[in-house]
Amino acid sequence: DLAMADRRSLSQKYRPKIFSEIVGQNIVAQSLSNAITRERIAPAYLFQGPRGTGKTSTARIFSMGLSCLAPGDTKPCGICKECTDFLSGNGTNLIEVDASNRKSINRIKNLLENIPPSATSSRYKLFVVDECHMVSSKMWSAFMKFLDEPLPRVVFVFITIDPDNLPRAVISRCQKYVFSKIKDIDIVCRLRRICVKENLDVELAALDLIALNSDGSLRDAETTLDQLSLLGKKITPSLVNDLVGVVSEEKLLDLLEIAISSDTAETVKRSRELMDSGIDPMALMSQLAGLIMDIIAGTYKLADSSANDTAVGGRSLTDGELERLQQALKILSDAEKQIRLSSERSTWFTAALLQLSCGHSSEMNPARSSATECYKSLNDAVAEAGRESSSSRTASHSISAFGVSKKHKVSG
Ligand SMILES: [Zn+2]
Repeated sequence: DLAMADRRSLSQKYRPKIFSEIVGQNIVAQSLSNAITRERIAPAYLFQGPRGTGKTSTARIFSMGLSCLAPGDTKPCGICKECTDFLSGNGTNLIEVDASNRKSINRIKNLLENIPPSATSSRYKLFVVDECHMVSSKMWSAFMKFLDEPLPRVVFVFITIDPDNLPRAVISRCQKYVFSKIKDIDIVCRLRRICVKENLDVELAALDLIALNSDGSLRDAETTLDQLSLLGKKITPSLVNDLVGVVSEEKLLDLLEIAISSDTAETVKRSRELMDSGIDPMALMSQLAGLIMDIIAGTYKLADSSANDTAVGGRSLTDGELERLQQALKILSDAEKQIRLSSERSTWFTAALLQLSCGHSSEMNPARSSATECYKSLNDAVAEAGRESSSSRTASHSISAFGVSKKHKVSG
């Protein structure tokens, strides 16, 4: 729906669509483009390199190029029927799976078992296996059958950040493409173009700083710019400093999980800890919103795969979790407007966090079942907090308005 489309992250919105838009991987882009033009397509490719360097985007562009109807070396053109179908999500020749996701890997197993050995379609079929270092040895043997006796027009692209953990037999049967970290200057160039298109007020030195902090990952840089743009003010180096690296993603995810799980006391405690360490509630708010968007979009991955069964960390969200996260995003974006104007920013931020569990408890408490109701009670809570703290404007007084007992408070 439209509201969700507007909340696309900058990296999704400006994802490259043709080879010439791929940033900082000229050799890879050129040779894949040549392979399509000369119709010299290998049965299997290995894309390796650090995160955020364009591996998945390149695989998609490659797939689009294989079915593009344009002549000569202009594939993919991005405008023919096949390309527009692909870009609007109606392409049928690309199957993308994530090996870190059990459901996903079962799906590809199923597909592999159901490719008839005599398949001779006139169209290419591209299987993209992301995070392929997570593929089990049993599954690799299923793939090996196809790598040893390739089917016409069936192509595999294996993507990994960790090629050392792949079977040698697999590596030796793939055409290898190494994606390097993106140079800072290329990242800055890219961010500048996005700033112009998004009409963002930004100092060039701020973009340098973002690039510096992104460690060669264009996606990380775009995510940081995304978060900064949500603050709604001129993007300066000091603003970047305030945001980048202050709160780790683990801490943020922790806070989100606790808030959603309705643990009121712990939510207030963690929130206060972050405020006490001097973090601006506005920055925290936009970082949290960015994290939720990443989780919804499926682009957020936990470093520790064993934690995949946590409430919001895994890649496969249940409908209920998805709904809860969408509601959380709505609550945060509503509260952001209030925080912007308020002198009680910490209070507003904590109050907003406490509302995140509303979706969770709605079945037990039908009176507060909608986001609107939650938001209304948020207003009430803050009004009450304001009255409480009018005599003595300290955070602890404000927080006590939420009925948190002393023993849960942070002493520091
Ligand atoms: Zn085309």
